[in-house]
Amino acid sequence: ESGRELIDRLEQTRGLTREEWITLISGRTPETAEYLFERAREVRIRHYGHDVYIRGLIEFTNYCKNDCYYCGIRKSNANASRYRLTEEDILSCCELGYGLGFRTFVLQGGEDGWFTDDRMAHIVSSIKEKWPDCAVTLSIGERPRASYQRFYDAGADRYLLRHETFDHSHYRMLHPESLSAEYRQKCLWNLKEIGYQVGTGFMVGSPYQTPENLADDMLFLKKLNPQMVGIGPFVPHHDTPFAGQPGGTVELTIFMLGLIRLLLPKVLLPSTTALGTIAPDGREKGILAGANVVMPNLSPAQVREKYLLYDNKLCTGDEAAESLRSLDERMKAIGYHITVSRGDSLNM
Ligand code: SAM
Repeated sequence: ESGRELIDRLEQTRGLTREEWITLISGRTPETAEYLFERAREVRIRHYGHDVYIRGLIEFTNYCKNDCYYCGIRKSNANASRYRLTEEDILSCCELGYGLGFRTFVLQGGEDGWFTDDRMAHIVSSIKEKWPDCAVTLSIGERPRASYQRFYDAGADRYLLRHETFDHSHYRMLHPESLSAEYRQKCLWNLKEIGYQVGTGFMVGSPYQTPENLADDMLFLKKLNPQMVGIGPFVPHHDTPFAGQPGGTVELTIFMLGLIRLLLPKVLLPSTTALGTIAPDGREKGILAGANVVMPNLSPAQVREKYLLYDNKLCTGDEAAESLRSLDERMKAIGYHITVSRGDSLNM
């Protein structure tokens, strides 16, 4: 069966078997990719028009108790210069962001015990009180269900937690034994049950990843049916155990973006910073493959370069929220435009 036929079937039935996923991913060609992107754009435009949603990303702490082998802010990286923003700092970021047109704030950080449930709930309710028309998204890793419930009750709307890789043995190759695919996935189901708009996702081209792993990721996405899917290439960081591993490619990342658009037509799909980091036109390529969200950095300038998940991570130029206008111009050059709205998912 040709790639085209599989892409047509995927669009029509919104799913494929594991074998079909493997065939489509491992047998991809530039021609099937072009065809996929055409279909993905049409589906994206049907549901979201030419709008690009923006989220203000606030990286509020780079302390982390975990030791993921790929990540630059892992606890064993003694060269990382650690910082924490105060609640006041975070609110100033939101203030700046609101003025720029952001209506979603994403609070992302390492797994930092200083930010207890009390402190987090207080931060969330302060933001919601001041800007009730905004959505608050949390991305602070694994916590017990009761903690997620507290943040939700405090007003958090959405939660981002990439599953990283569905396959348990592959997960173990990327993380120390204290972490498991099983618990990570359990957290996602908990978040869904509580009522969050949930985002999950994975790195493309992470070490030891196979087409079989990616097929399993697609099957998991179908099952979880999240509101958002964040994927980006793995990019090595020089102070991690994976420093010498090859990074993921633009080519495979945008192919996976197109597949996800056809699998979950109404999902929110960011064209990620990591994609923009490995190619100057990565962001545009992601949008043209079916993505519909960008997440510019709203963190204070002096801490931005400390949230270094991988080498050369973008944090200035068009990555900076202040350059929203030039980002909008870049989107317009390819026929899209940034919109000022909460940008809720239609995949409810
Ligand atoms: N601690 C929270 C968590 O675990 O979900 C949020 C922060 S974590 C740094 C955010 C995401 O960064 C991870 O889900 C991972 O996929 C991504 N990431 C970390 N290191 C990376 C790397 N070297 N290349 C690409 N993405 C990376």
